[in-house]
Amino acid sequence: MPLYDYRCPDGHTTEVLLRVNEVPKAMVCHCGQLAVKLVSKPALTPGRWGDQTGTYGVDGYYDKSLGATYSNSMQRDRIMKEKGLVRQEDLPSHFIEDTMEKEAKESQQHEANIKKFKSNLAKHEPGRAIAETFSVSEMRKQGTLADSRVKD
Ligand SMILES: [Zn+2]
Repeated sequence: MPLYDYRCPDGHTTEVLLRVNEVPKAMVCHCGQLAVKLVSKPALTPGRWGDQTGTYGVDGYYDKSLGATYSNSMQRDRIMKEKGLVRQEDLPSHFIEDTMEKEAKESQQHEANIKKFKSNLAKHEPGRAIAETFSVSEMRKQGTLADSRVKD
């Protein structure tokens, strides 16, 4: 079921799960004013759903991120191992933060290089502009320098 947002003139936002064929254009906000429907967005699907009674034809829990059904943590761990996945809690501490920080730094460096290259390009012909922008060691690291005879 899609999730719909309604907002009143005071800016209160109400999220409602509704069937597509029963979506009103407005509803009454908790403050008593009329709240109008905002642009719809897809519903957040729970990461895990199901039951173990078999009532819904699902034996265990369906895990969206795993794309598999399991009924206990041992099964889950086995599936994860098969798929070569690692649980978030098993990652080294700050792994995600460190990775994001590293990527942000690389992206900043890239931006800086482009800026430097553009300014060098205004002063030199392209080949020289590249040489002025990137150090030999940097080009070697990036694999953009194929000629191993070139010295730093
Ligand atoms: Zn309101």
